Parts: sequence; structure tokens; C-alpha cells
Amino acid sequence: MNSALRGQYLAALGLESWTLRRGPATGLSQSAPVSEPCAPAAERVADLGWVELRAAVAACTRCPLSATRTQTVFGVGSLEAQWLIVGEAPGAEEDRQGEPFVGRAGQLLNAMLRAIGLEREQVFIANVLKCRPPQNRDPAPLEAAQCLPYLERQIALLKPRIMLAVGRISAQNLLKTDVSLGRLRGQVHHFGASRVPLVVTYHPAYLLRAPAEKRKAWEDLQFAREVCSGVQR
Ligand code: URA
Repeated sequence: MNSALRGQYLAALGLESWTLRRGPATGLSQSAPVSEPCAPAAERVADLGWVELRAAVAACTRCPLSATRTQTVFGVGSLEAQWLIVGEAPGAEEDRQGEPFVGRAGQLLNAMLRAIGLEREQVFIANVLKCRPPQNRDPAPLEAAQCLPYLERQIALLKPRIMLAVGRISAQNLLKTDVSLGRLRGQVHHFGASRVPLVVTYHPAYLLRAPAEKRKAWEDLQFAREVCSGVQR
């Protein structure tokens, strides 16, 4: 992407151009287990193709969120995507429309992706949870554990080159750690047994409340792009 175009995208994000300043990557984070997926469920889901997986998610009653959701939010995007973006859980608008990141935070996420030359349609976007927690509360450990096999299967089918965890809840659940988001940023982590490179950044909903942090999110996105292109692994 040429610099004039990037300048336009950065302006759309409310950012000025600047050069990346980042210290050396400090290696993997220390992990403390948050929760373990339900083993029998994980075995069944691990055999499914895209169509069956989508149907299994739509019919899921593994946790109490099935009683309060309008519909499940499977994820959206290209099945050939190199980038997998993982958020926390559907909000009210996502629950209504059945698609992740469709509200204001979604608009900002789209702008963030465009800033690194990616259209929403080129990536795959999913969440740790497929169902909306009531009042947008944080996912409960049991909900995340029961839902994780679906995301794991999506990852196995998609085989992304890079995962971008947006927000603390996503990062901590994916990495099974309680380390703060600030300490998880700026490093290449690896997801699960497949060891997919994973980079952590701020949640766009947080960036809407704290626009001064967009600058750091831009650094994270550039870092993730380097990781994806094999410069940093
Ligand atoms: N926030 C998320 O983490 N995911 C969504 O899909 C929407 C808002």
C-alpha cells in the first residue's frame, strides 16, 4: 500500500502517520490456566467440516447462554483467510444480526484492518463465545470452556497464518493466562497445539473510549503484519 493511501486510512482512524517504535520481543508470556475445554465435546467437534460445524454451533445448548441468545454468531469472512481476528463475545447488535463486530466497534475494527491493507471480507472474524452473555457481562469460565472447541475447529479448518486477539478477555482465554493485556502486547504468542502465531491488541470498543490508545493499536497491527509475512515469528 502506498504511503498516501495509508495516510488516508490512518486519518480515518483518527491517527497521524508515525514510525513504529518497539522494543525487542520478550518471548512467550507466563501462563496460568483459566479453564479447560470439555474433553468429550472437543473430540466430537474436531471431526466436523465447515457446514456441520456451523450447524452444530447453531444448535448448541452446552451452556446457559443458549437460553438467552437470539441466535448464535458463528463468525464471518473468507474461508481462505490468512488472518483470524478473535473478539470476546457477541453484543446486542451481533446477537440481533448473527454477525460479529457489526456495531460501532465493528466499524472501527474495519478501519483498523483497512489501515494495514485488509478488507473485512479478506479476513475471518470470530469470538471466544458464539452467544451473547446477558447485559454484555464477561464470559464465565464454563461458557468459554464449552465454546472453545468450536473456535479450535474453526482454526484447524482455516489454518490462519496469524491470529489477532482483540481485547483482554479474548487474549486471556486464548492464551489461558491472567497476564494483563499491556504485558501480552508486543510479543508473538502461539495458540494451542497448532501453534498458530498470535498477536494481542486492544479491543475496538476500548479504543472508542480511549482514542489516545489507537496509536498503540496501530503498532500492534503493524507488528502482526510483520509476523504474518514471516518477518517476525
Ligand atoms: N465485541 C466483541 O468482542 N465481539 C463482537 O462480535 C462484538 C463486540
